[in-house]
Amino acid sequence: MARYTDAVCRLCRREGQKLFLKGERCYSGKCAIDRRAYAPGQHGQGRKKLSEYGLQLREKQKAKRFYGVLEGQFAHYYELAEKKAGVTGENLLQILESRLDNVIYRLGFGLSRAEARQLVVHGHFLVNGKKVDIPSYLVKEGDVITIKETSRSLPKIKAIIEATEGKNIPQWLDLDRNTLQGKVVTLAARSDIDLEVEEHLIVELYSK
Ligand code: SF4
Repeated sequence: MARYTDAVCRLCRREGQKLFLKGERCYSGKCAIDRRAYAPGQHGQGRKKLSEYGLQLREKQKAKRFYGVLEGQFAHYYELAEKKAGVTGENLLQILESRLDNVIYRLGFGLSRAEARQLVVHGHFLVNGKKVDIPSYLVKEGDVITIKETSRSLPKIKAIIEATEGKNIPQWLDLDRNTLQGKVVTLAARSDIDLEVEEHLIVELYSK
């Protein structure tokens, strides 16, 4: 599957906020947003007033990049969100948050969503006891996520678990660190999601 591979810190600088795309570096003094908090490129430091469309587009790009989702898939999630009862923008974020790669990241089984995605593809996780290697798999309330028995002793997995000890787990998930078993207590509410995005602008964009 095609994926954005340019220097990811540029994406944060373009959006003017941390999107946490690089794992541990995002929490260190090396974060590009902390060092150069302006858009990349020759005109990055110039002020530019965005049009209404420009503002809507930026919010969509921000959400897409935060979750590492491509255009077509994002549009598909929007369609799903529209069909669900409730507020479309909040539904959209809930769907994005329910992706297995995001859940793996939130549980601290990956240092970034990109790493979590790769680990999922490599088949290191079970959902309700069955291997799931599809990063876009949408978890449901009550799902139990575990690291495959044979993967637990891998140095890479061990290092991740060690590095994420003490990580805050969102309240919609539960993690037993002894058994390395995560559970989806309920689906994420808007207040659980730490992405600073004005999702109503995304809805306006798709409603045109
Ligand atoms: Fe974004 Fe992380 Fe790079 Fe900082 S270090 S700019 S949060 S990807």
